[in-house]
Amino acid sequence: MDRHTELKLVARIMELGEGADGAALPELAQLCGSSSARLRRLAAAGIGKLAGLVPPDAAVAVLQPLLADTHPQARQYAAKALGAFGAAAEKALPDLRDLYRNPAEKDYVKRSVYTAGITIKKAVEIAAASRVQHCRRCGVKVSADEFARSQKAFQRVFCDRCFDEVYLERRNFDTTVELNKTIQAKDGTLVQSDGERLICDVLNAAGIVYRYDERFRIIEGFAIRPDFYLPELDVYIEYWGMDTTDYKIGMLKKQKLYQQEGKRLISLYPKDRPRMREVLMQKLGMLK
Ligand SMILES: [Zn+2]
Repeated sequence: MDRHTELKLVARIMELGEGADGAALPELAQLCGSSSARLRRLAAAGIGKLAGLVPPDAAVAVLQPLLADTHPQARQYAAKALGAFGAAAEKALPDLRDLYRNPAEKDYVKRSVYTAGITIKKAVEIAAASRVQHCRRCGVKVSADEFARSQKAFQRVFCDRCFDEVYLERRNFDTTVELNKTIQAKDGTLVQSDGERLICDVLNAAGIVYRYDERFRIIEGFAIRPDFYLPELDVYIEYWGMDTTDYKIGMLKKQKLYQQEGKRLISLYPKDRPRMREVLMQKLGMLK
């Protein structure tokens, strides 16, 4: 490119960048492909100035390839401009990271890359936090913790309850019926199975204080049954109500976890139901 043409185009880019007119994007995008590194750099900077005026995805699509430009200043200005598009530039983060970690990269490029990366990450966080998220399954609003947990595990948004249910479904547990059960023990506690009701009634009749937690929990990646906790005795009771292989594997792991944590656990099974009082009282007696 001859010097005269280049200077003319530099002036044109300046004009477009300062013009605050979103319609300038296609022309600047074309100049990002110029044979002159100077023009590519200035065009990238010009696009950055149009943040908020142009469709961010279109701008990011033009700027991101420039991170691989042969000219360091073109990479630098592309990074700076990407930072101006905030959360929309999220997909450029891996490229920015690569540049930052590249030992051969110029320090001044790295500084711009770093600043842009921080800006984009913050924008992504703010966007995710300020958006009200709803469970994809039941529609309730989810908390930030629930959002993070389910995104990480399923790349979907679930409330904790649906998270656990989906988790169980995926492990082929046939728990739908179980989950919907609400059986009332004599003291009014609502439980999910007849075995648990029996345990409540035995504890209640014996005057043993207990807490019942009806939620499914996932600990270290596997599902566990509802807990009874006896605060005065510091003892846990688990009623292992299902009979699938997966469930049994989970049960053994869970029992081991209790052991490793030094917690005292009483395990009860469907076969104990006819003699729940005797079995439970005997196992409690053995712990004393
Ligand atoms: Zn839900």
